[in-house]
Amino acid sequence: MKAPAPLEALTAALRRLPGVGAKSAQRFAYHLLQRDREGAARLAQALADAAARVRHCARCNTFTELEVCETCSSPRRDASLLCVVETPADQLTIEQTLSYRGMYFVLMGRLSPLDGVGPKQIGLDRLLARAADPALREVILATNFTQEGEATAHYIGEMMRARGLKVTRLARGVPVGSELEYVDPSTIAQALRDRRAVSEAVAGDRTDRSGARADHEGREDPGGSR
Ligand SMILES: [Zn+2]
Repeated sequence: MKAPAPLEALTAALRRLPGVGAKSAQRFAYHLLQRDREGAARLAQALADAAARVRHCARCNTFTELEVCETCSSPRRDASLLCVVETPADQLTIEQTLSYRGMYFVLMGRLSPLDGVGPKQIGLDRLLARAADPALREVILATNFTQEGEATAHYIGEMMRARGLKVTRLARGVPVGSELEYVDPSTIAQALRDRRAVSEAVAGDRTDRSGARADHEGREDPGGSR
């Protein structure tokens, strides 16, 4: 027995999604047609709308409905800073810290030669054009700390340095609130390599922390139960 052509087409379309195999695609299609026709209509509408209306910002490459996104056109953002991230989700994560007021460039991926993702695929020509902005002083590399993310950061860093820009990388470090003995050695090694001079503000901060630490030690079982 052959499935109706529209059902086959739906299953084939669902299979285009990452991680969805033949069985899952079939299950989704059956579910939509058998139990959730309204959901199917909404999904179809949302897909059509998004595909028609969402585009890439002409400046930072993130998803937007506008020619230039709100972040890029905001006069309140610091145009001297450009933070390079892999995805819009990473951008959102940094935004949620409320501690960055500069601009972004979203690669929409990372260099991955084995998967055929080269400089062109992640829009490095557009990043270069963006970096020509005379207001720009510093490029912050905030790609992931994976092998590919590091390689991407290295590649872009070299490119930006060659253009006379200051290049910084997110510091890898010891998580806030953690104790050294429970942090993995490679993170400690990296934190040591990335150590920085202690400013007065940090020194003051350290006084606070040592107070907290004494309190903590006071509570701890001296026999070291852990
Ligand atoms: Zn933008």
